[in-house]
Amino acid sequence: MTDTTTTHSNTRKAPVIAIMGHIDHGKSTLLDYIRKTNIVSGEAGGITQHISAYEVQHTTADGIESSITFLDTPGHEAFSAIRSRGATVADIAILIVSAEDGVKPQTLEALKCIKEENIPYIVAINKIDKPGANIERTKNNLMENEIYIEGYGGTIPAIPISAKTGEGVPDLLDMMLLVAEMEDLTGDREALATGTIIESNMDPKKGISATLIIKDGTLHKGSYIVSDDAYSPVRIMENFLGESIDEATFSSPVQIIGWNKLPKVGKMFIAVEDKKTAEAQALKCKYNDCEVKNMMPQDTGKKVVPIIIRTDSAGSSEAVASEVNKILCDDRICTHILYTDIGAVSETDVKTALSNEDTVILAFHTKIDPKAEQLADRMNVEIQSFDIIYKLTEWLTEALEKRKPTSHVDKVTGGCKVLKIFSQNKKDKQVIGAKITEGILKNKSTVKIMRKDECVATGTIKEMQQQKMDVDQVAEGEFGMLVDAKTLIETGDTIVNFISVEE
Ligand code: GDP
Repeated sequence: MTDTTTTHSNTRKAPVIAIMGHIDHGKSTLLDYIRKTNIVSGEAGGITQHISAYEVQHTTADGIESSITFLDTPGHEAFSAIRSRGATVADIAILIVSAEDGVKPQTLEALKCIKEENIPYIVAINKIDKPGANIERTKNNLMENEIYIEGYGGTIPAIPISAKTGEGVPDLLDMMLLVAEMEDLTGDREALATGTIIESNMDPKKGISATLIIKDGTLHKGSYIVSDDAYSPVRIMENFLGESIDEATFSSPVQIIGWNKLPKVGKMFIAVEDKKTAEAQALKCKYNDCEVKNMMPQDTGKKVVPIIIRTDSAGSSEAVASEVNKILCDDRICTHILYTDIGAVSETDVKTALSNEDTVILAFHTKIDPKAEQLADRMNVEIQSFDIIYKLTEWLTEALEKRKPTSHVDKVTGGCKVLKIFSQNKKDKQVIGAKITEGILKNKSTVKIMRKDECVATGTIKEMQQQKMDVDQVAEGEFGMLVDAKTLIETGDTIVNFISVEE
């Protein structure tokens, strides 16, 4: 009997299990044991697992046959890597603890990981076949470490097993299904598939492949899948045994070959109907970090002009985006592409522009929805249409130039080199001898004290003397001056006066 219980339009789904725990406590041995004893395969003994996840069929003590998917990435490092990328892959965790050694540091780390993930877990007390094993002591030890199992102050199921002999393993599998049932894990077979990438590889012969776990929906041959800016046709789809399949549904691990680029482990994927949608979706992600869509760069100290690009095709979106990214980006102004999309400029684009000051919408080979145009007119949002790419670049370059904030720069009008310090009792009364090196130095002007090309302080010239006469300015030769500066001037410093000019 196969369990196909349905709740509303949803079907009960096989739980995805991650086995975690301290090194040497038996994660790999347990995974191997379950794989060997539970995989239904035509060729007896000829099972080769191709990817880092597998599915088993288990018949419970009550005679119900169900599937269970195991993530074969032993060690919580891999699990954390996936988790830290924001994806929930496993539905249930198995915390494996050796009945010989008890709770160890990595047991607690694994537990922390499980708790952060907020998924239910089952404790597997392993190695019970060993002479040194002590189930009772292990249970107490778990309690001491605040892991409250059933009968020991808590509700966490704990199953004594031997991953080596297989004792207790069927009970553990029964428990996984019971927990899954209590969690009411369901999926919708009709939906387009979504899930997580758990592995990706580049093979010089086969191309780029990725293993994924379907979380919901059904993945059909002929559709496409997208994960961030990577996409692939669902043309070569294999199950975990490397057999070619035409469709796969939730909880199944599958391998898809033919990606345009390596998808990132831990990222979500979605299935879409056709190539055009896949390309458009991937492109959106290329120029926007999908998870922080529309987020403007943090305060960069320069003016940022947000850009929305609308085009007729994925190809031209890519071309326009790449041209925009090439355009001037200096220390005063830069562009930031909020997103690119295919089709007419929509009201949503205009609304997005409104929430990001100074946004420019660039329409290339595409129309503007009349409603979007009206809204843009009313709200003063700039939409520019182009048919020729260089016209677009020309216009944008000019527009950015116009939007550049004006800045003030200090222009040196005269400078001198300090030859001698006559008196320096106080910083505000420093008497020095110097020689003009450029321009004209003026009395009463504000000066910068430069040391090794760096301004070390500012000051003011209070008095100037040349050939024992008070003067208002010096254009050449040696002279003396009284300076009020914020630092002690040194022989060899350069003192310059300057004016501030707008650029
Ligand atoms: P992992 O680091 O958690 O994956 O641990 P392994 O599965 O590699 O197991 C570490 C060692 O313990 C190996 O030598 C296994 O053969 C042994 N081992 C694991 N489980 C059992 C068990 O239930 N009984 C016995 N006797 N040995 C076990």
